[in-house]
Amino acid sequence: MAFELPPLPYAYDALSPYISEQTLHLHHDKHHQTYVTNLNNLTKDSPLADASLEEVIKQAAGDAGKVGIFNNAAQVWNHTFFWQCLKKDGGGDLPAELEKRVVADFGSVDKFKEELTQAALTQFGSGWAWLYVDGDKLKVGKTGNADSPLAHGHKPLFTIDVWEHAYYVDFQNRRADFVKAVIDKLANWEFAAEQLAA
Ligand code: FE
Repeated sequence: MAFELPPLPYAYDALSPYISEQTLHLHHDKHHQTYVTNLNNLTKDSPLADASLEEVIKQAAGDAGKVGIFNNAAQVWNHTFFWQCLKKDGGGDLPAELEKRVVADFGSVDKFKEELTQAALTQFGSGWAWLYVDGDKLKVGKTGNADSPLAHGHKPLFTIDVWEHAYYVDFQNRRADFVKAVIDKLANWEFAAEQLAA
């Protein structure tokens, strides 16, 4: 069975003005779709074609012969996850259980948001900023290109795509403004809390 592009979990204009309809059409319909198409082409007629996306990522991670498969599979997963991390009228307070864990591991919600912002701004070139679970601790980190905490045995809770294609139409080179808008106006902390509970 071929890998498929899941629809966005909201309307194309839902995240406007921070992430425009034009950006969502390009980012989801073109970039995300391309990773799906590439992954299908690369896994066609191989046992990986019938594996779950998570299984493909785990099997291809660190395998020099499967770099292309890893990059496309991880980008399919990362984007599907990223869409769910956003919502109209997001941002604001963290759900109670997530807040408790954030305060325990970062000191305060503000400190967590600062660390997440720093991770997003200091990722050199393309990549992702993350909140994830490592063992029994919440951590903030960044990964380059397609890499993800999932490939390192960690459980992602939240991510921000900091590839230029994520923000260039709406913010040009101002990654900091994009990251601030995601954290303050679009973050779906309920989704992150659901991942923590799952
Ligand atoms: Fe992207």
